This record gives sequence, structure tokens and C-alpha cells, in this order.
Amino acid sequence: MNAHKPLASLSLDLDNKWSYLKTHGDAGWKTFPTYLDVFIPSVLRALARLDLKITFFVVGQDAALDKNAAYLRALAAAGHEIGNHSFHHEPWLQLYSKEQVRREILAAEEQIVRVTGQKPVGFRGPGFSWSPDLLEVLEENGYLYDASTLPTYIGPLARAYYFRTAKLTAAEKQQRRELFGKFSDGLRPVAPYYWQLLNGRKILEIPVTTMPIFKIPFHLSYLLYLSRVSERLLTLYLQTALQLCRFTQIEPSFLLHPLDLLGGDEAPDLAFFPGMDLSSARKIELFERVINTLEQHFQLVNMNTHAQTIFRRLRLKVRPVPPGDRRSHGDSRIEDLRSPPAKKAVSTAAAAPA
Ligand SMILES: [Zn+2]
Repeated sequence: MNAHKPLASLSLDLDNKWSYLKTHGDAGWKTFPTYLDVFIPSVLRALARLDLKITFFVVGQDAALDKNAAYLRALAAAGHEIGNHSFHHEPWLQLYSKEQVRREILAAEEQIVRVTGQKPVGFRGPGFSWSPDLLEVLEENGYLYDASTLPTYIGPLARAYYFRTAKLTAAEKQQRRELFGKFSDGLRPVAPYYWQLLNGRKILEIPVTTMPIFKIPFHLSYLLYLSRVSERLLTLYLQTALQLCRFTQIEPSFLLHPLDLLGGDEAPDLAFFPGMDLSSARKIELFERVINTLEQHFQLVNMNTHAQTIFRRLRLKVRPVPPGDRRSHGDSRIEDLRSPPAKKAVSTAAAAPA
């Protein structure tokens, strides 16, 4: 690790086979089919080779099932941070009441703590869904950061692509009408900031980093998609994104998914998902190449370490949560905060895995 490099955090949303089938409207999800038995040993081997500790956002429903327990426990045992990725993995959390959100988050947390022994301090909503109520529930329950926002204009495009292949009723499409976000999400900042909550408190937001200025995603799923055109295009796109991060002094939060490493050979039922024509071996090779490129520019850490570093800095924007419309974009008033919120930043530092 090079102390002179800025940080980049790495996280993986541990979406399981059933959650892809569920969002896609495939009834097969109801028995909670899993690929964690294949995926987790494979990703742990890859991360050990790269000497990386990252954050895994775990779904509560997976932690609640005995068949997954040993695999989830192995993530924590290997020194990775465990974050909360909701209980039911429904990418329409913005439709939940505050009470429903609270039950969702606490039920997931209970199962995650039971299985891994780690109390999550970070949250990412499924499909980048979130609401002001959700942010308040996180703050009230000792969470240090939310990581649910994806500041991009292209959410509606990604959704249109998804709907084209999904088997959804009109009602299900209505429920998923904000899947992957709205055009106006592109107006949100790429750099971390504090949300000013309606209850007067604050919570740190670490957005999934999109390419500064252009606000287009560059997480691994997108890079793999480009690799099918050419590997040179992948490299060019990633280098451009990282140079823009350096230029704008943004320390990226880089997002991974299981299907970035699992190929069609190991998850044949998910053939509808883009990039499933690649083999697992090829995906892992590209993953390692992307990580090596990130490491040329940044010191790679988990999200808790990223959050702790941000807490130590004095100036960070504060943005009021949008009132009324739960995901509206009325957050135009920005002010500087000269001292970070003292809350829990120090007391929970001990919870950070190395
Ligand atoms: Zn997810």
C-alpha cells in the first residue's frame, strides 16, 4: 500500500441467484436458489491473491437460511467488512413506509449479526433505491454511512434494457418504475457528502462513483460489457474515469457484483443477464486486470475505512434530504460544514475490520 495515493473503496453487492430472478419476475426465486456455495469460495480466492479487504453488502434473507451460513461466515472470517443490503432485496424501498423500512433494515441486521458476528455500519439499497425515511432509520440505528445513490443520467436506459427481457406484469412494472433510478439522479454529486436529515441529524453518503463530469457508470458490470467490444475500449474507458477522478480529487467507491466474476458456465439460469456468455475464468482475469489498474492510481480499502477517512476531514458539503417526493431532486441548497458530525464516528471505529 502506498500512503501517497488517494483512497478508493471497493464493495460488492452480494445479490444472490434468487434476487436476480425476483427482480426479473421469474417465479423460480421463491425457493431462494443460491450460488453462494460456488461464488464465495471463488471470490475469496481472488481477493486473497490480490491481498484485498473489501465490503460485502449482504442480503438478510440469505443470512437467514442455513444453507448459506458457512459461506457468509467465511467472508467475515477472511477480514472483510459486512454491510447491510436489506432483507428482501426489493428495489422499490422508496415505496415503503418508515416503519416498513425499519423492519426491513433491522431484520437484515439481526440475521447478519447472528451469522457473521459483525454489526453492519453501512447500507446499500437494492437497485440503488432509498428514501429520506431510510436515511433516518440508518442514522437512528448507529449506521455510519449510506451507499445507495448512483449519480447518473442513464438509469432509465438501464431500466428499459432490463424491461425488454423481463417477464413482468403491468403492476410489477409499476413497482419497478424507478429501478436503477431517474434521469434527475444525474444531478446528484459524485463526491461524498452529508445528508441533512429531517430529524436534525446527519448521515454520510458515499455515492457509487460514476465518471466525473459525464456521470456515466464505470462499475465492473459496465466495464465487462465494454470488454465484449474490445479490451482496449475497457482500458481506455476505465483510465479516462480514473484520470477524471484524480483531476476532480474524487476518491472513488467502486462497485462489484457476483455476476462480474461468475460466468454462464457457473450460473446458467441467469443467461438473460448481460455478459453471461463470458466464462468465470475470463471474468476473473478481467477483474484482476481492472483491480491492478485501480491500484496504479489509488490505495484500495473497504468502505468503512473510506468513511472513517472522510470523517476526519473538515470540509464536506451538507445537502438537505428532498422533502415530499421521496426521491425528488430538490436538494439544491448546499453549504459548507466546518466540522464533521462527532456522532459515533470514533466510537464505532473499532468495528472497522482491518
Ligand atoms: Zn443488490
